[in-house]
Amino acid sequence: MVREVIGQCTSCRRDLFCRDGFFEAEIDNGNSFCYACFKLLQEEFTVRELGSFITQVNSKPEGHIGYCGVEAMEVENTLQEDFSDLKLEDSFIVWKEGGRIIAALGVDWDSEERTGELWGPFNLSSEEKWQLHADILWRLLQHKVNQEGTWYGFYNELNHQAKNWFSVLGGQKKSSEVILHAKPGKVSSRSIGKTEEYSDRYQDEFKRMHQAVFPNTYYSADEILSRKNSKNRLFVSAENNHLLGYVYVEGNPDFKEGSIEFIAVDEQARGKGVGAALLERASAYLFECVDAQEISICVSADNEAAIHLYKKVGFTEKHRLSFYKLQTN
Ligand SMILES: [Zn+2]
Repeated sequence: MVREVIGQCTSCRRDLFCRDGFFEAEIDNGNSFCYACFKLLQEEFTVRELGSFITQVNSKPEGHIGYCGVEAMEVENTLQEDFSDLKLEDSFIVWKEGGRIIAALGVDWDSEERTGELWGPFNLSSEEKWQLHADILWRLLQHKVNQEGTWYGFYNELNHQAKNWFSVLGGQKKSSEVILHAKPGKVSSRSIGKTEEYSDRYQDEFKRMHQAVFPNTYYSADEILSRKNSKNRLFVSAENNHLLGYVYVEGNPDFKEGSIEFIAVDEQARGKGVGAALLERASAYLFECVDAQEISICVSADNEAAIHLYKKVGFTEKHRLSFYKLQTN
């Protein structure tokens, strides 16, 4: 019998052998895999089992990532309706043992921007196997997705395993973010009258202010204006037809929740209660018109003035998260 090493598994790096002229491995799209990894690559899953696994892991701070929630129905809905430019089965790798998912890693890939938000690793492997299993999932996901670009990780400060794993891969920490939440009846409403619904006469000032305050953010001013509809609203504060600030909110009546996506106040207008007024208007809209049972807002941990304002109005701190970026080309 002749048995020789002729390569390594793309995913777990185990040696692959050729025995009596027979290659003991599988080849997929030009890469070689051991039988175990090849099986993982083919593993099938339903949206329901994936959604329920993700929310189970995501509901604990030590497994939490910032991109998805903790309600199974809502996560299932996102996976089905609003996830990745690639097919869902090409955007997730699941690891099953005894028919149950024990780990999963996915990416919400944006083909135009060539960026991906990493969902996971959601990983219930033992302490010793955690990093190894995460690496295997990562290499399998990269093989499946087959794209180069920028990958983002958004991990809870207490999710030490994932933060450590992504740093070892080469992920650079870019910022710390704070997520604050508010419940109905907890937000003041003293100065709502100082605000109004956005109208096109503020368009130029709005575009300039958004570009100046959020130069590299996920929605440009034009994207906000095109996303604006009966649920997603833009409110402004103005004086003599001059824009002092704006707040953009997205409401999700199906899941009774909403988020304050962007809030900005002109530098000249700071200290006059404009931010508080906008925040109150946004909250009142989400609680009353969307029937939100919870509102969230994400802010840079460095922005102590904003955090102070949100707390003063009635928000409380829920999570601290680290934002990472990894380039693969
Ligand atoms: Zn392998």
